[in-house]
Amino acid sequence: MSLPCFQVGWRIFIFTAIAALLFMLRLVTRSLCQHFLQTPLNNAVKLPRPLCFMAAPLLGLLLSGCALIKPASPDISLIEPISHPVRFLLTFDDGPSTSNSQNPTASILHDLEHNPIQPGIKALFFVQTRGATLRSPGRELLPREHADGHLIGFHTATSGHKNHRFLSHEDFIASLENGISDIQKVTGSAPKLVRPPFWNYDARTFDAYQMHGMHVLLTDLSANDGKIWGFNGSPRRRINLYNQLSTMRPKMVVGQIPVVDNVIPVVVTFHDTNPYTARHLHEYLQILLEVAAELNIPVSPQPFYQDKTALERAALARTIKSESEVVVLPGIWSWIWGSNPDTGKAKLAAFN
Ligand SMILES: [Zn+2]
Repeated sequence: MSLPCFQVGWRIFIFTAIAALLFMLRLVTRSLCQHFLQTPLNNAVKLPRPLCFMAAPLLGLLLSGCALIKPASPDISLIEPISHPVRFLLTFDDGPSTSNSQNPTASILHDLEHNPIQPGIKALFFVQTRGATLRSPGRELLPREHADGHLIGFHTATSGHKNHRFLSHEDFIASLENGISDIQKVTGSAPKLVRPPFWNYDARTFDAYQMHGMHVLLTDLSANDGKIWGFNGSPRRRINLYNQLSTMRPKMVVGQIPVVDNVIPVVVTFHDTNPYTARHLHEYLQILLEVAAELNIPVSPQPFYQDKTALERAALARTIKSESEVVVLPGIWSWIWGSNPDTGKAKLAAFN
């Protein structure tokens, strides 16, 4: 079993948290000594400042697993042919953004339509329909997503980004019904696709989605850009996408991934609330093409979906058919939910 390798955002968070804790410890011990002993802290007892600086990166490195030490180089063959080309099915979670300053959802909508790689890309937006989203300009962006020809799926209709498994039954059903109604008002039809917040579902929530006519779509690749506060960049975006796509290659070779309309749909997840993603969408599109070429994976002459109906067909073909289906979640989520006894099953960890 390999070590869990935290993503760079987590490593920075762990590093910062440890450094802050050590300095707080240093301050607390000093003030306690001064208060109770009525004497300045002796140098022999005081946690020295250089130790704080040295201990933080060391502990951060240990806690961050192997990612800093082990270069990612999947040991897979790139020779076996793949019968059909891939087409990337772009999905965006958590929006529409309510930001008044360089709104990332608006920027992404513009760049999907106007970009040098494939103008007029259509994507799938898993939206939040209540809470902050009701505020302008998020309120106006949901109809715009539909008007621009994109597909709308359901993410949540709670007052915030909440895990459906932890809602009361009444609140959960209300969220489903409100979300369906909100989307229906915009698009004229009920959503057929749902992406559960935090990638988390159990038998109860899965069955409820199905009973409300929605099918769960997870992802093949993730930009791991869900954290939008603080540092929201992705210095390892290329290697992350390369590694994730590389794990799909053997499955493509043996025909394990469905072919729809003569292409293999590869689901990619971004967050349209992330300003970094919005600023770098062109680069992400280019990176997807480049890592596919590096992995000797054929790409369709139309690398991204351009037709909403075809996109929906492909997305439905890639949905989870049963709650008991073993799935691989992006980033740390398999690690988190796979060990949760409430799920009643192990969702296999995705770290390798
Ligand atoms: Zn989300």
